[in-house]
Amino acid sequence: MPARIIDGKAVAATLRAEVAARAAALPFRPGLVVVLVGDNPASTVYVRNKDRAAQEAGIAVRTIRLPATVAAAELLEVIAGLNADDAVDGILVQLPLPDAIPPRPVLEAIDPAKDVDGFHPINVGRLQDGLPVLAPCTPSGVMRLLETHRIALRGARALVLGRSAIVGKPMALLLLAADATVTIAHSRTEDLAGECRRADVLVAAVGRPGLVRGDWIKPGAAVIDVGTNRLANGRLAGDCAYDECVAVAGAITPVPGGVGPMTIACLLDNTVRAAVTRRS
Ligand code: NAP
Repeated sequence: MPARIIDGKAVAATLRAEVAARAAALPFRPGLVVVLVGDNPASTVYVRNKDRAAQEAGIAVRTIRLPATVAAAELLEVIAGLNADDAVDGILVQLPLPDAIPPRPVLEAIDPAKDVDGFHPINVGRLQDGLPVLAPCTPSGVMRLLETHRIALRGARALVLGRSAIVGKPMALLLLAADATVTIAHSRTEDLAGECRRADVLVAAVGRPGLVRGDWIKPGAAVIDVGTNRLANGRLAGDCAYDECVAVAGAITPVPGGVGPMTIACLLDNTVRAAVTRRS
């Protein structure tokens, strides 16, 4: 039987409507500022989409555009100003930054209470300790998809393919917090196919189109494809060979239209949560 298709657009639309209702019930408008440095075309599109989605959710959003030549010190001053601005509940610095600006000091300069991307070390530590936290948006979106589609996690074997700070590691922590038995695989993992075949839930976040083949999938497993890879023909492809995996999996996310829409929805969710926590 072919896999159930996990429709990220539909789940994201529901979450966005929920967030909008929560925002509308507040006695103030939650404020989000996106900082975009340089003119990376993909980042420009992402920022435009975030801006539109935030407006639709009733969030007061603005984008600060800085030239690629901006000095790191000037960027840090902008962040300090946003930290001090009481109308700003969420600050997001769009990555990647130009090569001349190391991202770590920039991300660490953001007030953890306004860190809607969840990349500040304090939030990373809170996530690890199982404390209430602004968790990174993409892994949170994956958890929401799993929850909505009632994919059992307690005691399930989960494999996270990829160990980035943005997706793989926080993903593994969230699955662990949901009582899955979690393995993290990466470019040095031996027998990647064998690791995948043991997984009841497989989350691929690698950035290699079609790496995960259909015969790597345990029959009936849930396959969540975070990979977003632009092919030479301009089309987007995931890390999993979709046509092969869909025939074996029990449930699967398409690319596009799976995890991607969830990331922005979770950003809006984090912004409203940050606003409520900060101002209560
Ligand atoms: P990243 O920082 O480049 O990390 C990739 C991870 O994959 C690394 O841990 C790397 O291992 C591992 N890897 C690379 N090649 C491998 C291979 N052949 N076999 C096994 N593991 C391999 O990437 P990322 O930021 O986590 O993003 C991963 C993918 O998700 C990308 O396609 C990105 O575009 C996509 N993404 C999508 C969203 C969304 O909203 N849908 C958000 C974020 C990212 P090592 O650590 O050993 O190098």
